[in-house]
Amino acid sequence: MKSPIKVIIVGGGFGGISVAKILKNTEIDVTIVDRRNHHLFQPLLYQVATAALSPGDVAVPIRSIFSSSNNIKTVLGEVTSIDKQEKRLLFKDRSDLGFDYLVMATGSQYNYFGNDQWKNHAPGLKSIDDAISIRERILYSLEIADQLESEEEKKPYLTYAVIGAGPTGVEMAGAIAEIAKRNMMRDYKNIDPDKTDVFLIEAGPKVLNGYSDSLSEKAQQDLEEMGVTVLLNQPVSDVTADKVTAGDTIFHTPNIIWAAGVQSSPVLDSLSVDQDKTGRVYVNNDLSIEDYPNIFVIGDAAHSKDSSGDPLPALAPVALQQGKYVGKKIKNTSEGKSTRAFSYTDKGSMATIGRAKAVADIKGFKFSGLAAWLLWSLIHIFFLIGFRNRFRVFAEWIWHYLTFKRGVRIISSRTFGEHRDSG
Ligand SMILES: Cc1cc2nc3c(=O)[nH]c(=O)nc-3n(C[C@H](O)[C@H](O)[C@H](O)COP(=O)(O)OP(=O)(O)OC[C@H]3O[C@@H](n4cnc5c(N)ncnc54)[C@H](O)[C@@H]3O)c2cc1C
Repeated sequence: MKSPIKVIIVGGGFGGISVAKILKNTEIDVTIVDRRNHHLFQPLLYQVATAALSPGDVAVPIRSIFSSSNNIKTVLGEVTSIDKQEKRLLFKDRSDLGFDYLVMATGSQYNYFGNDQWKNHAPGLKSIDDAISIRERILYSLEIADQLESEEEKKPYLTYAVIGAGPTGVEMAGAIAEIAKRNMMRDYKNIDPDKTDVFLIEAGPKVLNGYSDSLSEKAQQDLEEMGVTVLLNQPVSDVTADKVTAGDTIFHTPNIIWAAGVQSSPVLDSLSVDQDKTGRVYVNNDLSIEDYPNIFVIGDAAHSKDSSGDPLPALAPVALQQGKYVGKKIKNTSEGKSTRAFSYTDKGSMATIGRAKAVADIKGFKFSGLAAWLLWSLIHIFFLIGFRNRFRVFAEWIWHYLTFKRGVRIISSRTFGEHRDSG
């Protein structure tokens, strides 16, 4: 009997899961490899970082998604390199796996533009650990500020610097402003909410680069009304444990969050194909790599173009559509059928700023405010994996909307006094 075709998908994010969903319950032998045991819904990670949601609300074990599909296995492990000729991939623990088809869906990581030492002081928001670390920094600072007497001593602990004004930076700054200026402050009797400062620092000339000028201006206006100070054209030149330098200004604070720029996973280098300046792999119009029709790269890891020749953005819908396409392409090829080139359908973009505040551009129809925020909420609930998570997030949001309270305010990894050593 002919042995089944072996497909390995590296990455159980939006792209990888979407490939596997197309291939489930077929004769094809599918293995999903990920260094984490869970699929993470990154668009809501900022809500974990700002104590609105719990980690389990935005993450789901990868193996549980496919527990009823006998042809799909899950392997926990970090892939370090790929041997294209031998059709094998190598793991960090030096074991290896062979494939007939390989789909690289390894996403992206934060880019500190050559200043990797900044990473320790300004965490990016990419994983559950990052979100919890940011949450604890914010909560811990509030605890310290609440115990200090002079406003001068309190000031750094009541200052927040978010670097990068893309969708993640805008969401983070808006959510922190909601916490710092309003929600939780009634619990900290010795803190004056008017003495908190939230800075959103951007090297470019506008917030939400990539959105129309009108939506970007609206987002900036909303942020400013919420008490965020937006600083444009201010490239950051230094980050230490307790300060950020941007332009001529030094911001004294241990609360620094990095949301500026991404680069691809270094494992893609071992494919030895052309990559753009952020490490994304240039792919053919069927998302395969040059000379290897059995190796595909999708999602944030791929540099593919839209119909006008512009690179597709690093967004969840791109990864989802590409994953679906590659799943169909592998299935069709295994059945001797051909598949047309990949083409992306842009259904629009949206970003949230805060409670009942968002901006949306749906096929050229631009709107903002409550309607955009409701649509944003609905879409995010819809795309979450699993009924339990959908239900929990919906319930948390209703509770949060009605009470203004944030439920997940636990500090677990620090004890008081640590700031004196670690800053
Ligand atoms: C904070 C944040 C907010 C965002 N908000 C939005 C939003 O509102 N709307 C939107 O459309 N997009 C948003 N995005 C972008 C969106 O999440 C990404 O475009 C999408 O996740 C890309 O999917 P992917 O499958 O390419 O990669 P990912 O979803 O990142 O998955 C990659 C997977 O690969 C695994 N992996 C990586 N390297 C290895 C390795 N060497 N070995 C094994 N496993 C590996 C990782 O553990 C991960 O599970 C946001 C991103 C972030 C970080």
